[in-house]
Amino acid sequence: NLRLSVRFADVGFSEIVRIRNRVLELKAAGETIHQFEGGEPFFETPEPIKEAMRRALAENKTRYAPSSGIPPLIEAIVDKVRAKNGIPAEPAHVVVGVGGMQGLYGAFNALLDPGDEVLLPSPYWTPTRDLIHMTGGRAVCVEAARMRAEGIETVLRARLTPRTRAILVNSPNNPTGQVLTRADLEAIAGFAQRHDLVVVSDEAYEDLVYEGEHISIASLPGMYARTISVYTLSKSYGMTGWRLGYAVAPEPFITGIKTSVLYSTNGVSTPTQWAALAALRDVPASFFEECRAAYRQRRDRLIAGLAELGLPVKPVPAGAFYVFPDVSALGGTSAEIAMRLLDEARVATVPGTAFGCAGEGHLRLSYSLSLEAIERGLTALSDYLRQRT
Ligand code: PLP
Repeated sequence: NLRLSVRFADVGFSEIVRIRNRVLELKAAGETIHQFEGGEPFFETPEPIKEAMRRALAENKTRYAPSSGIPPLIEAIVDKVRAKNGIPAEPAHVVVGVGGMQGLYGAFNALLDPGDEVLLPSPYWTPTRDLIHMTGGRAVCVEAARMRAEGIETVLRARLTPRTRAILVNSPNNPTGQVLTRADLEAIAGFAQRHDLVVVSDEAYEDLVYEGEHISIASLPGMYARTISVYTLSKSYGMTGWRLGYAVAPEPFITGIKTSVLYSTNGVSTPTQWAALAALRDVPASFFEECRAAYRQRRDRLIAGLAELGLPVKPVPAGAFYVFPDVSALGGTSAEIAMRLLDEARVATVPGTAFGCAGEGHLRLSYSLSLEAIERGLTALSDYLRQRT
């Protein structure tokens, strides 16, 4: 009996953690590392949000709150998802959670019986697969490159079984930065409707779209009834450490997610919720414009630099803050390449295998860095590649 539950058998610390630990080791030894492996905004939390936190503390807003969220925050979220995402949510359809992570965990927890399958397009954000397994489900990897509107039906149908319950959508995507078009989303929505599947839509990077537009699949005709939409303040507002996100879904899903939140954390810290209210109410739209301009500049510089090194990023990612170049020309598996770059060029990246069945041959690099840091990293890469040939 001295063992973990079988739900945990296949769940470990991710490849990303292995790289991060090695980075910490090297830094502790005094090395300078060019850190492209991260997943955080490069800017700090805006002042109005920090001020709201200080105010909440001064006003002793520090007691238990309703476990699904304080009413004014729920109201602000309803206003936001109606206006920005086109989702016809009611206040009862919202639950505040500890980051996007708890929203996703709650979604799968609420949805999956042991052995239920979720179609998981790869490359995917690594924890998604683990969350599905931890909640008793089975992630079925689908190669997303072939999942654009044209080929979607064939690709997905091949993976469909009587146990398929749901399909994951993550646009803009981590790690590829790809943004699904309306046609892509309509094709997925049609498939979900024809085969009676639930859609779990991870929209963590909704505010970071540089070309085209972010579309929430729950806003498409007939889709709200079968979609769980998951959001977070982490990436949009530079709030990764605050741990606040939210999920939006109709019944019966929302009650399941609320129960999952209740019995795991009993809600998000009360003062943090008041700070989140300020994020949604007081941070002007111009803030996102400025962030997007800064990210676009960084993306274009990194892509141009990688292309000069023979590492093309195609197609150019329209969202999030990652590039996912094909590095197979460097020889070896992506895990070997990532370790080699770290040990020999002091450039930290994440190997593609971390992102599922379609990840091998690629590395993920974040461009959420200062322009100077991107420049220094490109120089280190260039020196290393030149000396190898
Ligand atoms: N979804 C995606 C695709 C992400 O990349 C992340 C964070 O890296 C999250 C969800 C969850 O973020 P958090 O739990 O910080 O809100």
